[in-house]
Order: sequence, then structure tokens, then C-alpha cells
Amino acid sequence: MSLLSMFYSEYNWLWPLVTLIVSMFSVFLLKEHKDFYGFLFLWTGGLFLIISTFLARNDHLLYYIGLNYNFVTFVEMFLLLVASVFWVNAAALLYNNRAANRESLGLYIAVGLTVCVYYSFMLHNENMANHIGTIIVNTCLSLLFGCSILRVMRDKSLGNFLLCLTVVLLLLKSLSFSFLPHMVEKLNILQWAWFYAYIFAVIFIKQKQQTLDLQKSWNTIDMLNLQINNMVDSSPFPIVIAKITGDKLLLINSTAAKLFGISKKEVPFHKLKDFFVDEANRLNFFSLLEKEHVVRDYDLMVCDLINASPFWLSVSAKTIEYNNEMAIYMAFQDVTSRKERESNLQSQADKDPLTMAWNRRYFEKLVPECIKECIKKAQNFSLLLLDADKFKNINDTYGHKFGDKVLIELATICRNSLREDDVVARFGGEEFVVFLNNTDGESALKVAERLRQTIADANISDDNGNIIQFTVSIGVVSSEKTASLDILLRQVDDAMYLAKERGRNLVAMYDEQAVQKILNKKIKSEDRQIHPIFQNEENEEISLLDSYENKIL
Ligand code: GH3
Ligand code: MG
Ligand code: MG
Repeated sequence: MSLLSMFYSEYNWLWPLVTLIVSMFSVFLLKEHKDFYGFLFLWTGGLFLIISTFLARNDHLLYYIGLNYNFVTFVEMFLLLVASVFWVNAAALLYNNRAANRESLGLYIAVGLTVCVYYSFMLHNENMANHIGTIIVNTCLSLLFGCSILRVMRDKSLGNFLLCLTVVLLLLKSLSFSFLPHMVEKLNILQWAWFYAYIFAVIFIKQKQQTLDLQKSWNTIDMLNLQINNMVDSSPFPIVIAKITGDKLLLINSTAAKLFGISKKEVPFHKLKDFFVDEANRLNFFSLLEKEHVVRDYDLMVCDLINASPFWLSVSAKTIEYNNEMAIYMAFQDVTSRKERESNLQSQADKDPLTMAWNRRYFEKLVPECIKECIKKAQNFSLLLLDADKFKNINDTYGHKFGDKVLIELATICRNSLREDDVVARFGGEEFVVFLNNTDGESALKVAERLRQTIADANISDDNGNIIQFTVSIGVVSSEKTASLDILLRQVDDAMYLAKERGRNLVAMYDEQAVQKILNKKIKSEDRQIHPIFQNEENEEISLLDSYENKIL
């Protein structure tokens, strides 16, 4: 048997059976589609037509199981009526997407059933029964055809054309069976052709639905994207998205654009780096982000590109995938005022409230770091210890308030005369220590001498308008012999006492032997309850106001 014979041999059931099964499953492709029930009803109607035509050609089988002639006629007519009822519903569903009107359908079924009963059992007219069956089937198929043509006019898709073709092939099958029954027996292909058209109709309608669904999804995504963009843009928090590699800005919302002083059009020309002020701060932030992938409330020093004014922002950042690129998402909060408050509090904690010089605690925290830096760079450093001469006399003579004024002036002169990276700290009552960065002993002596002179030349007026001058004694040490801060502090103290001992208003470099000499004197004088500094004054009457005449204390 050749392959083609499957299509026209009435007794080869294999191919039609496969077609039937495939077509049955194909309708389930449309399970979620609005046309699902329309196609299911169309297919079921076709199935009833096939059963009915099969029985019409093989009614001896019914007689064989004992059914009488009238009943067989009724069964054939009834099957056609059932097929037509399915098609009426299919027409309504495929055109209008809703089931046929129940009352009209009820009336149609009632009339159809009456006609079936009448011509099968009462009139016993087989010809009439066949004609009426044909009329019922073809009328309903014509209705279905009309509806599918209207569908095509509404949407000229391939699926709808194939649906039309399905109905036309069904009509052809029904008409040819009614009018050319002998020819149809030879044309098995016509028996089943409508199934193939039907299967393709389902496939194309499904494919169209998928395209539409996809389009809908894209539209939804576009809409959501637009909504998200609007939300991000109108967020009161500044938001920035930048590429991880290359630092290029990808998105910046209006609040951030305003904050950083750029317009949205300029975004592609800027890098995130442009807004950072402190390089160390920036590198630390990025290394933290690299390690943790999320950073919360990190304080960043940034600047506005219009007037380059730096300010503080707190940033929460996360690495994300943005348009298929690895990016950093950053949300900022302006914390400038908090930072200012913090820094005020910090400086209050680190500074002496009277003179605004660093306090001893901060000096001991900061200077070891500076020393480490100097050692790393193989640089020398020096320390100066300044002590106001006979300060008690100033307090006693002009009052404590004026004494305070002198101390303020002393600190101001130190700050103004030294470099920015030198550290001036108030160490005790009228004692100030100075750390000189990158300075050897010789240079430190020069600095100390200049400082001493500037202080000695300074004029301070009291409440009565009198001009008062004061002096300091300065001890000097440098790191040339030792870099130990503890030792250097002890030595600079000794050096300062040397200066006192040598007559005050002087600068003295630390000298171990000279100090030893004083210590020896001190031991002796302690026996006599005299301070070593006043040792050489022991025969004089000590006048703490001995320079008072010249207003120099
Ligand atoms: P010498 O030349 O030996 O240093 O004499 P001196 O009088 O400066 O030395 P001494 O250490 O005996 O006196 C320091 C004085 O400084 C004692 C104290 O009343 C005064 N003093 C300490 N702190 C303050 C301050 O904050 N304000 C004022 N006005 N005086 C202070
Ligand atoms: Mg003192
Ligand atoms: Mg003093």
C-alpha cells in the first residue's frame, strides 16, 4: 500500500486516527486563549459529523446490534442535530466570544428534536430525514462560515484564514457526502482535510497570541520602566547609578543632578570620581564596596561642580546589574550640618577651650602618627617646649583674666608663626609644646629663637590701656639621637629648665651634661629647700617683677 493510499482508502484508519488524536490535543494549545471553547466546539461538532457519516455508510452495524430502522434514522438525525448545536455555539464564541443565546438555542434544539422524532418515528420518510439533516448541518456550517469571515475582516491573520478554510472544508465534506456519497468514499482525503486546516489554524492563532502576549509584556515592562524612572527621578533622595569599571555615570536623578550642580544632558560626560573631594575617602569607600558589595551610611566628602564647594553626604550603596553591566547604586543623604556639629564637638574635645590650641590628649594621639610618618620618610622632627616666664607675677599683677589673655596671645603667635603641619598644644597651665615636622635640631633652634623673639616683641594692652610685654623660655630637642616621644618629652622639659636656669627669655637645646649639672644643684638646693632655677639668685632678693619697670615680665 503506497503512502498516498492512506488519504483515499476508506478502510485505512491509521492516518485518520492519528489526525483525530493530534487535532484533539492541538486544541489544548489554546487552553489560556479566549478562542479555546470556540475551537473545542468546532472540533466536537466535526467529530459528531464524522460519526454520523460513518453510521450513515455503515448502518448495517446498527441493525446488527438489534436497532430498528426508525431508531437508526433517529440516531443519524440526532447526531447531526448535536453537531449543529456545537457549531452554533462555536460561531457565537468565535465571533462574539460568548456562548449562543440560551433561549434561541433551546428553541432550536426543541424544533430540531421534534423534527427528528417526527421524521424518524411518525412519518418514516428516510429521504426527508436525510434532507432535513443536511439542511440542519449546512445551515449551521454556513453560520459558522459567516462568523469566521467576519473574524477575518476584523483581523486578517493567517490563523483566521485557516479557520475559514476549516469551515469551508467541513462544508465541502458535508455537501459532498449529501450529494456525492459515492465519490466521497473514494476521497478519504476530503473526509479528513478539515482537520489539517484546523490544526494549522490552532497553531497560527496560538503563535499570534504568543506574539501579542510578548508585545504586551514588553509594553508592560516599558510602562513599569517609565514608572520606576519617574519614581527614581522624583525621589527626594539623590540617587546615582554608575558603572563599576570606568566610573561612568549611567543614571542620576534630578535631586542628585541639582546637588552636584550638573544638568541631565551632561551626565554622559561625567565620572563619579568628579564629585569626590577626598581621594583617600573615595578609595576607602570603593574598597569597602568591593569587599562587602553593600555599604550603609558611609560619610563621603563630595563637591558641587558649579562652585566647587565641598560638603558631606551619607551614602548607602550596593553593586547591581544595570542594563547588563555591573554598576553601583548609590542613595545619598545630605549630612553637612550633622558633620559640622560632629566636627565642632570633636574639636571641642580635642582643643583647649581657652587658647584653641590642641590639648595634651590630642597631642599624644596625633604626634605618634606624625612621628611614624617622619620615620617612614626618613625625616627628622623636633619638639619645642615653651613656658611663660614668671607667669604667676602676671596673674598677681594684672589679674587672672589678663593672664588668660596672655595665654591666648601666646597660642595665637605660635600658630601664626609656624607651618600648618606643625602641631601646637597646650601641655599645662602656661606651657605649650610644639611638634615640628621634618625639622632637624639646627632648624628647630632657629624656629624657637624666631618664636621667642616674636613673643618678646608682642604688645598686649590691659584694661587700662597699658602695653604689657611678656617672655617665654623655650626648650628644644630633635629626633637626631632618639625618636622616642617619651624620652624626647622628658628631654625637652629639661631643656626648657636649662633656658630658665640660664636666665629666661632664652632658647636652650637639650644638653645632657648641662642638665646633669642642674640636677646635682637641685639635689643640693633641695636640702636647702631652694628651687635649682633660683640657685644662682640665692644671694639676691628674688623679685618676680624685676622687669616690671620696663613692662617686661
Ligand atoms: P617660671 O618663669 O619659673 O615659669 O615662673 P612661673 O611663674 O611662670 O611659674 P609657675 O609654674 O610657678 O607659675 C605658673 C602660673 O601659671 C601658676 C598659675 O596660676 C598660672 N596659670 C596656670 N594656668 C593658668 C591659666 O589658665 N590662666 C591664668 N591666668 N594663669 C594660669
Ligand atoms: Mg610652668
Ligand atoms: Mg612659667
